[in-house]
Amino acid sequence: MQGKIALEEHFAIPDTLMDSAGFVPDSYWPELKGRLLDIQERRLAEMDRHGIEMMILSLNAPAVQAIPDTGKADEIARRANDYLAEQVAKRPSRFQAFAALPMQDPELAIRELERCVTMLGFRGALVNGFSQTGAHKSLLYYDLPQYRPFWARLEQLDVPFYLHPRNPLPEDCRIYDGHPWLMGPTWAFGQETAVHALRLIGSGLFDAHPKLKIVLGHMGEGLPYSMWRIDHRNGWVKAPPKHKAQRKIRDYFNENFYLTTSGNFRTQTLIDAILEIGADRILFSVDWPFENVDHASDWFNSASLSENDRLKIGRSNAASLFKLDMPARAAGQLSQAAE
Ligand code: MN
Repeated sequence: MQGKIALEEHFAIPDTLMDSAGFVPDSYWPELKGRLLDIQERRLAEMDRHGIEMMILSLNAPAVQAIPDTGKADEIARRANDYLAEQVAKRPSRFQAFAALPMQDPELAIRELERCVTMLGFRGALVNGFSQTGAHKSLLYYDLPQYRPFWARLEQLDVPFYLHPRNPLPEDCRIYDGHPWLMGPTWAFGQETAVHALRLIGSGLFDAHPKLKIVLGHMGEGLPYSMWRIDHRNGWVKAPPKHKAQRKIRDYFNENFYLTTSGNFRTQTLIDAILEIGADRILFSVDWPFENVDHASDWFNSASLSENDRLKIGRSNAASLFKLDMPARAAGQLSQAAE
């Protein structure tokens, strides 16, 4: 399929580059480093070769979220966002941007969000899970009450919030003792992010702010597969749920969430996601440079899907969710000649 839009696609600035070391064997680090620091050359060539018209770019992880000094977190976020704005300005028809935010301080996060959306034209924010602050033991998840003004402003600005993974801190990893292979994309990323998403829902956030739009990568971090059980646990016990949300967890998942295919190129998993949330709320993504554009595109272009769903997931859902100024296309117009 030509004309695809991808939206979990990362870059690094020198200040955040080393946060991505350690996710691949040392022998691959020079390659990953080159991919992260590049925007206009190798990346663009990969996009052209595999039918990706646009990438919405975001900073690598955990980056700003892992800087316990709030002032420094704010400084790095602004530096990364300014750099990204310059890069997007070179090719706005090929690149758009998500803001990095110093969530350590809700007021600073609001200020930077406003600057990025209203002055720099960013399409939303991408945040790498919980933020560390002050004494580094303090973990800030965004269901906490001090974040309600942030969510109110995000809802007013009407831009999506991409909740991206990070690893739990070492002191919170006892379940993984002796099994470091479970960290990162294998398992810990998804577990950490799924729980954070459930915390947001269970806090009643979406009752207070029903128009919020949250994006999850990796086909929903396992949540579609578990959604029925989350609401029905011990169904014969007619006990009311213990969370603060007014309706079933599934209702908010269906109304406030969007999922991307980043790093999860599996038709069985996509079909389960479609059965839970519908093809209108699933969006193609790669997770470049941690995954390969050809792996994502070759799979997606030939996955067993209706051509109408391929068009929605590959392009039109993203164009409408992010209000991108891109021409509408019919499914047949975007087929690849080689099909
Ligand atoms: Mn990613």
